Amino acid sequence: MTQFIGTSDIRALLERVGIEPFLVGLANYIETDFRRWESFEKAARLASHSRNGVIELMPTSDGELYAMKFVNGHPGNTVAGKLTVTAFGVLADVATGYPLLVSEMTILTALRTAATSAVAARVLARPASRTLALIGAGAQSEFQALAFKALLGVEEVRVFDIDAEAMDKFCCNLAASGLRIVRAGSVAHAVDGADIVTTCTADKTRAQVLSPGLVRPGMHLNAIGGDCPGKTELHPDIVAHAAVFTEYTPQTRIEGEIQQLAADFPVTELWQVLSGKAGGRRSAEQVTLFDSVGFAIEDFSALRYLRDLSRADIRDIDLIPDLADPKDLFGLAAPQNPKWATMAASTAAGSTRQVRSPTSSASSMDEPKT
Ligand code: NAD
Repeated sequence: MTQFIGTSDIRALLERVGIEPFLVGLANYIETDFRRWESFEKAARLASHSRNGVIELMPTSDGELYAMKFVNGHPGNTVAGKLTVTAFGVLADVATGYPLLVSEMTILTALRTAATSAVAARVLARPASRTLALIGAGAQSEFQALAFKALLGVEEVRVFDIDAEAMDKFCCNLAASGLRIVRAGSVAHAVDGADIVTTCTADKTRAQVLSPGLVRPGMHLNAIGGDCPGKTELHPDIVAHAAVFTEYTPQTRIEGEIQQLAADFPVTELWQVLSGKAGGRRSAEQVTLFDSVGFAIEDFSALRYLRDLSRADIRDIDLIPDLADPKDLFGLAAPQNPKWATMAASTAAGSTRQVRSPTSSASSMDEPKT
């Protein structure tokens, strides 16, 4: 049977485990998988662009497990009362090709994006970073704030959004989080004194949420909202003057902030830093940029973590036919098939072939051979 985790299941799991401990555990899985980066099959995601947004398929495999996520990005959706980003995914067994788990991934994507941001910041931000500026207070924002609190010890979050109601929601949701929340009046106000700046806005355009004059020496920039061709958040000069770190560079060159620069602009992949193959921040003054677009290995890690964490209380769904005779798929699809009547009749007449129900759970190995 295939296991299933829906929205209500993940809510119950988060209630049981706690969001911050969940993020810490997830970050460990992501870091572990990034350290064995070379053992994964990798490709830039397959994107179907349309006027309002994009639908993407994100596959990867480590040779034992295969993961695939379906995800969309439609920045105008919130006006119609819909999420900008929704997702679901599958974890499958490579040996048989059978899906093991089908899961909601809208909440899981927000969790894995936040955990990945924090994993990157842990090796790229200055060690004493305690203040985070958040530009964009939409669906991803609280997860980002909690990941930076849980994994880096961030104490203050300075938030700005062009939508006052989104800021109200953010402040209300995190009122009891233990974070000191500063409701900023502008981007400049939010980033003033910040050690780390996360940009998580949604706009299908070459936006310049952050301008060069606002970037201070030593800042770590975590840009997650620029993740599609023609959809960026930073002024190109910021990107050009920063030490840039990517997930999977061939995909980031198409979708990330670096799409604004020359195709040979030098970058370092995060996995190289995590596995000690490359250096991270070189000085306290250097500006570092994690040009995040989201990569399939993060979803692989998230599905793997989810499955391990909820193995005992996970639900089964009948997604894949469970056949006594794997060659007789038709028998399941058409139980009234005249074939069965014919075979039943021939059995009654003394045929040596044993007739079995198409949905029988007994193994075909037990059948007498004719
Ligand atoms: P959302 O629509 O829920 O929230 C976006 C917020 O940005 C809104 O509240 C909007 O008012 C605000 N905003 C837009 N322009 C702004 C500006 N110029 N200044 C300040 N605020 C502004 O979207 P979300 O689900 O929170 O996603 C945010 C972004 O992150 C999207 O672009 C999404 O595609 C991206 N994303 C990236 C990853 C990744 O792995 N890198 C993962 C998930 C989502």
